[in-house]
Amino acid sequence: MHRNAMDVLDLEQGMRDALGRDEFEPWFQPLVRLSDGAIQGYEALLRWNHPERGMLAPGAFLGVAEDSGLIEAIDWRMFERALEAGKALAGRSRYITLNASPRLFHRGDFDQRLLALAARLEFDPCLLRIEVTEGSLLRDPEAMVGILQRLADAGVEAALDDFGTGYSSLGHVHRFPLRMIKIDRSFVIPFAEGAAPRRSSALIEAILALGRALDVEIMAEGIETPAQCGALQSMGCVFGQGYLFGRPAPAKDWI
Ligand code: C2E
Ligand code: MG
Ligand code: MG
Ligand code: MG
Repeated sequence: MHRNAMDVLDLEQGMRDALGRDEFEPWFQPLVRLSDGAIQGYEALLRWNHPERGMLAPGAFLGVAEDSGLIEAIDWRMFERALEAGKALAGRSRYITLNASPRLFHRGDFDQRLLALAARLEFDPCLLRIEVTEGSLLRDPEAMVGILQRLADAGVEAALDDFGTGYSSLGHVHRFPLRMIKIDRSFVIPFAEGAAPRRSSALIEAILALGRALDVEIMAEGIETPAQCGALQSMGCVFGQGYLFGRPAPAKDWI
């Protein structure tokens, strides 16, 4: 989206005010087992409860939050709110996931800080997962292996988000301690009516084979139709997420 300099400054100031007024909050979307729809966990998704514009999804502000660096403060506030609200949900599933901006890993103490937050809020780290993007993994791979390994040792496992959209190569994922890979929605879209070009299924099948070889759970994002769910299951995909199973909603709606 094109924004002029004034819009950007307004949005930045708006986000600073929003931090002061505590307007950022987590919504939650279920992550399910495709065979029976059983809820495995919930992904915490950032929302801005804007005083004039209503409830905003990240698409409306994330770019400016990233560019300005404000995302750091927003993410930490969001994590705090998500762990508080997610306590009731975590007990009803295996985990809550948090999306972490690549910026949070520029400092090497991400793991310490996250574990300290969980301890302070008395949130069991074993019920927590962190979603990272390929960009986060590849900026400083060695540092990232360390961060993710220390988190895994403490019980916080990692999911690779939006797989297939980044610099992705199937070749580098084995270097990182990952519990889950989430196939980006763009690869699921071709199956909306069931059948899809051979190339689409070949790609998903390759990711599923990798998952089996590495003992990593594979989850498909953006499942909207029963046909997509069926096609993914027939290829061997076990886990999924999408409007078919539930849209993001406040925690109280899931309790
Ligand atoms: P994501 O991590 O890939 O999250 C999934 C996005 O897909 C969410 O959009 C979700 O609402 C949407 N989605 C889920 N199922 C379906 C479906 O069946 N169809 C369609 N069309 N969409 C579906 P949302 O909530 O707008 O978030 C967008 C992105 O913003 C997220 O993508 C993530 O990259 C980022 N984000 C969300 N929360 C946070 C956060 O707390 N911190 C940071 N740094 N980024 C976040
Ligand atoms: Mg995510
Ligand atoms: Mg995702
Ligand atoms: Mg995605």
